[in-house]
Amino acid sequence: MSAALELVDVVKEYAGTPPVRALDGVNVRIDVGEMVAIVGQSGSGKSTLLHVAGTLDRPSSGELLVAGVPTSELTDNELAALRSRTIGFVFQQFFLLDELTAVDNVALALVYQGIEPAERRRRAVRVLERVGLGHRLWHFPQQMSGGERQRVATARAIVTEPTVLLADEPTGNLDTASSASILDLIAQLHADGITVVIITHDHSVAARCARTITVADGTIVSDER
Ligand code: ADP
Repeated sequence: MSAALELVDVVKEYAGTPPVRALDGVNVRIDVGEMVAIVGQSGSGKSTLLHVAGTLDRPSSGELLVAGVPTSELTDNELAALRSRTIGFVFQQFFLLDELTAVDNVALALVYQGIEPAERRRRAVRVLERVGLGHRLWHFPQQMSGGERQRVATARAIVTEPTVLLADEPTGNLDTASSASILDLIAQLHADGITVVIITHDHSVAARCARTITVADGTIVSDER
C-alpha cells in the first residue's frame, strides 16, 4: 500500500505564554484506501492533527508527506497547489457562503484550478447529483436543512477529485437521521475509492471505520485496526 499521508515526529506548538504544545511528536501513516476515525477528548489535539495532515497548518517541527511528497520545503503556493489537487475538507460548521446557491458554493472550489465558469457549474451540478442533491441545485444554504448543507459541503470537498477526504466532526451539528445519512455518503465515497480520515465523538461513526486512532495530550495513545 502507498501512503496517502504520513506524519513523522510532528510537533505543533501554538504561541502564547506559556506556548501550547498541541501535537507532541506524532508519527502516523494513513495508506491510500483507508477509512480512519480519530477520537479523543476535547482539547486532545485532534483538529490540530487534521489541520496539519491536511496542510492547512504547518508543523513546528517534523515532516508531513502528502502522497509521498515531503512538504516542509514547499512554498505556501506550492503547498496550496498540492492541497487543492489531493485533499478535500468537510467541517462541522459547513462553511458555506450564504449568498451563493448550492451549485455556486461547489463551483467556487474549482476557481483555483483555472476551469472556466460554465464548466465549473457543470461539474458542480454533477457532484451535487452524486451526493443526492439534484433537487436542491439552486437553493441557498438558508433554504436547506443541516443535512443538506453538509451534503453541499461534501460535494464542494470532492468536486476537485481529491484522493483524501478529511472530515472534522462532520455530523457534529446534525440530528441522528441526518448524521446517519452523511455517514452513509462518506462511506459510499470511501467505497468509490477516496481515502477518509474523520474526527468524531460518535461511537457509531468510529464503528464504521476499519481503524481508530485515539489522541490524548497531543500524542497517539492507541491505533487499532
Ligand atoms: P481537539 O480537536 O481534540 O479538541 P485541538 O487540536 O483543537 O483539540 O486543540 C489542542 C490544543 O491546542 C488545545 O489545548 C487547544 O486549546 C490548543 N489550540 C488549538 N488551536 C489553537 C490556536 N489557534 N492557538 C492556540 N492554541 C490552540
